[in-house]
Amino acid sequence: MPELPEVEVTRLSLLPYLINYKVDKATILTPKLRYPIDSQLSKKICGATITAINRRSKYLIISTTQGSLMVHLGMTGTLTIKPRNAPLTKHDHASFSIGDYSLIYNDPRRFGALIWADPHDESCFLPFFKKLGIEPFDPLFNGHYLWQHAHTRVQAIKPLLLGGEIVVGVGNIYASEALFKAGILPQRSAKRISKQRYQTLAESILNTLHHAIELGGSTLKDFQHGTEKNGYFQIHHQVYDREHQPCYRCQIPIKRIRQGQRSTFFCPHCQR
Ligand SMILES: [Zn+2]
Repeated sequence: MPELPEVEVTRLSLLPYLINYKVDKATILTPKLRYPIDSQLSKKICGATITAINRRSKYLIISTTQGSLMVHLGMTGTLTIKPRNAPLTKHDHASFSIGDYSLIYNDPRRFGALIWADPHDESCFLPFFKKLGIEPFDPLFNGHYLWQHAHTRVQAIKPLLLGGEIVVGVGNIYASEALFKAGILPQRSAKRISKQRYQTLAESILNTLHHAIELGGSTLKDFQHGTEKNGYFQIHHQVYDREHQPCYRCQIPIKRIRQGQRSTFFCPHCQR
C-alpha cells in the first residue's frame, strides 16, 4: 500500500510535468474505482490548466482552473507520467494528455479514488479529511504535541499512531521503525510513556519519513517514479519484516506480534 512518503514522492515527481500545463484530452476507462468517477470528468477537465498539486495525508489534490481532482492511490494505485503516445496498459483507468506527456492512473485492485470537485467548491473532499490528525511536517507536530494528544490514552502506542487521528502518515512500516528508533515497545500503553520519550518518538517519526522521502526521490526515474517491490521504497528496515533475524543493535532476534490485524516487529531488548 502506498504510504505517505510514496504519495509525497509521487507529488514531487509530477510537479515539473503538470504545473502550468493544460489538459488537452482526458480518457476515463472505468466508471468506478472505490467510488464512482464523475461521468462528466473528461469534459470538465479538458482545457483546464493545472495550477497546484497538494497533498493532505495520502490524498493528492490536483488543482486546475476548472476545478480540482482528488486522487487516492488505494492499495495498488500509481500516477505515472508517460510519453503522450505510449499505449495504454492493463489496469489503466484514466489518462490525461498534457502537452508531450500523459498522466496515467493505473490500479489493479481498484481501491483508489478519483474525485472531482467543481470550482470553488471542495466540500465533497471534506468527509475524507474529517478524522485526520495533523501532518507530520506541520510545524505544530513535535514531542509536546504528541504527548499532549497521546498521554491520556490507554491504547497501545503503535495502533494509536497507525490510527492517524493524532498525526497522519505513520503507516505500518514507519510506525514499527520509528518505535524501534525511539526504544519504545509497540504494545506499551500510550499513557505509560514519559513526555521525554514522546520527544524522541516525534523526532524518530520525522527522521523515518524524511529518510523514506529522500530515498524515494533518489529512485525517481524518467517518466516513472520508482514504485519498487510492493510499492514501497527499499528503506533499510531495522525491524520491519525481520522476524527471527538478529537486532542490529543487540543481536537478540526480532519478534513479531499481531496488533489489530497488523504485524508489528520489535526488539524485545532494545524497546521497553
Ligand atoms: Zn535490540
